[in-house]
Amino acid sequence: MKFVFAACLAIAASTLQAEMEFANLKATADFPGGSAVVKSVDRNLGIIHISPQVRSERGWPCWWYLRVDGAQEGQPITLKLTASDGEYRRGRVLSTDWSQPDRAAISVDNVTWTQTPKCQKANGTATYSVQAPAESFWMAWGPPFLPSHADEVLESLKSRLPRATMFELAKTRGGRSVRGIRIGGNTDTDSPEYGVWVQARQHAWEAGSSWVGRGFVEWLASDDQAAVNLRRVAAVYYVPVMDVDNAAMGAGGKDAVPRDHNRDWDDEPHYPEVAAAQKQILKLNADQRFDVFVDLHNPGGNERRPYFFGPINLDKLPAVQQQNHARWLAICKDAISGPLPLEPGYKFATYVKTDEERNRMSANWVRIHTTDHVLSTTLETVWNTPHSTQAGYMTVGAQLGRAVSRYLESNPRGPAE
Ligand SMILES: [Zn+2]
Repeated sequence: MKFVFAACLAIAASTLQAEMEFANLKATADFPGGSAVVKSVDRNLGIIHISPQVRSERGWPCWWYLRVDGAQEGQPITLKLTASDGEYRRGRVLSTDWSQPDRAAISVDNVTWTQTPKCQKANGTATYSVQAPAESFWMAWGPPFLPSHADEVLESLKSRLPRATMFELAKTRGGRSVRGIRIGGNTDTDSPEYGVWVQARQHAWEAGSSWVGRGFVEWLASDDQAAVNLRRVAAVYYVPVMDVDNAAMGAGGKDAVPRDHNRDWDDEPHYPEVAAAQKQILKLNADQRFDVFVDLHNPGGNERRPYFFGPINLDKLPAVQQQNHARWLAICKDAISGPLPLEPGYKFATYVKTDEERNRMSANWVRIHTTDHVLSTTLETVWNTPHSTQAGYMTVGAQLGRAVSRYLESNPRGPAE
């Protein structure tokens, strides 16, 4: 009896202690790019249960990003993530997989992100078990890349490359600035000036694509001889975040109303930044200064290697373009070699069912509206692997840069052989 009483006291004491340990635990997403509906916080067991926030008509609710406060360093904290069951547009609820990476991103300073251990998935809920790295820390679907990060990257590039030109591509419908930078250009009037356009984040949830873009442009600004060569022969236009509105508010963007950002490329775009990009690209093309367009994305969670979407009618394209697509793929296969090695072949967006819709996708619109030699493509970099980190993404970006440099050395405007 005495023993049972003592055991009860011990349990009561440890419960009390646990309550005290987690007493101040809380979670919030009330900051730029944040997204989480906090369903519950269990202060006895240290369990936080969230879903990504649904923002009606602003696209897939797969992105999530929150701050945890009131933990004690080293404490076991459990994050349970259940997909949102609300309609993000009329009649549509997003399937679970998109919001549940095997490993979430975690950070003590909201700058440098690592991955959590692999989660456990059961009954629609992913459970991430971590040790609190500090009293306050951040967790997210992947390393966040906000419009403010884009501005920091652009400012830092400008300070390293004084001849680079920053520009405002457009003001969004929400009145935010979509910024970019032009780097390099040919001063030898006897040689062609090549033109390259690289943009990321038409889909706001695909934060990884902006890290690939950052890797590309940081490499371009570097002393690597291939980067120096590329800056000499080409003007490179880089837009780190296209859908600034949704990225700023932590919305997914994909499949938004009235239009998905990457289905907006027609004669009457809904988004001012799409209209402005079209205008600049048409001008470059008219000036015979356009060669490469790359739109950066992240694909489905089951993909294990980055890949390019090729034109669905590749075998019907002009000979020079078929040849350039073959050259491009061969160079990229060699350059994008790991830790996220490229898929050996093009994939095709067969899930888009009509030509009308397919032609409203950026890479296809650019291909249709520019000269035969222009190489226009989409790079999908995988997000659900142990290498889908800031460093892994940036490595893919740097490798993409080397590929662009080598590709332009192969005389993409020459006649088909
Ligand atoms: Zn996308």
